Amino acid sequence: MKKLIDRGSSGSEGWHSIVDYIDCPRKGRFSEDHVREEEEHYHYRGHLLHVGLAHLYARRMKDGRSKYLEPLDAVQAYAEKHPSPHRDRWLEPVLRCLPHYEAYWGDERKYEVLGVEKVLRMFVKDGMRRLPFTARYDLMVKNRRTHRVEIWDHKGTYAVLPKVVESYALSGQLLGLERIGRAKYGKRWGGVKLNFVRLPEDPNKEPEFGRPPLKVSPLAVRNFTTTVKYAHSLRDRFHDLPTEEVPGSYNDMCWGKYGKCIFRWHCHRGGD
Ligand code: SF4
Repeated sequence: MKKLIDRGSSGSEGWHSIVDYIDCPRKGRFSEDHVREEEEHYHYRGHLLHVGLAHLYARRMKDGRSKYLEPLDAVQAYAEKHPSPHRDRWLEPVLRCLPHYEAYWGDERKYEVLGVEKVLRMFVKDGMRRLPFTARYDLMVKNRRTHRVEIWDHKGTYAVLPKVVESYALSGQLLGLERIGRAKYGKRWGGVKLNFVRLPEDPNKEPEFGRPPLKVSPLAVRNFTTTVKYAHSLRDRFHDLPTEEVPGSYNDMCWGKYGKCIFRWHCHRGGD
């Protein structure tokens, strides 16, 4: 039977888990405890898109066609396995988009697929301790011309524009991939690319695609391990406290005009 690649989280050592402690210690605790969060519709869209692209590329690896479901079947299987109120909104647009994606980029023989949906790990030295840090990548390829290794991060987006590319320059998740990629591959490292897919809901509109390189901030790459250490120190500090005693940030990103925290209801009513 062919396999469904079902993306898990990158675990409690991943960027999303530790960075939440910097945003808000209680959010960090909720993330770490895997408290069931309210899923935004664009997260669900992202999951479906990632599943489709994961299978498209996994089937290009050795024996991939016999091991993994076809992309459209995989998206359907994922939607059945993970029921969501957003399914009716995004299942059809994602299924419509994937053949366009394949037609747009072709068979991409220039790239050898090295891995799909894998977790990379590094350790950050902090005095006598070695702090683990993990980062999940969507796709790792080798450019057959340059012989360099690249990581592609699939991004569902509202537009493929320079300002959207710029907005990822300080993304911790991508900085983590860049740091690990540099350390692991040295001169053979080709960088992170943003694999943009603009997915219209309207069936009369065409999807758009783009694959620009990530323009990482040099300072942020250098400073990255300092941030990892700081996040770990916050997690350690609140480790023994019950969730309701862990401080909350209570700012405009909780439930305000600048954003809505996915854990706001847990904070509002207490308990998990
Ligand atoms: S709602 Fe605010 S205080 Fe509560 S977890 Fe989210 S960011 Fe923290």
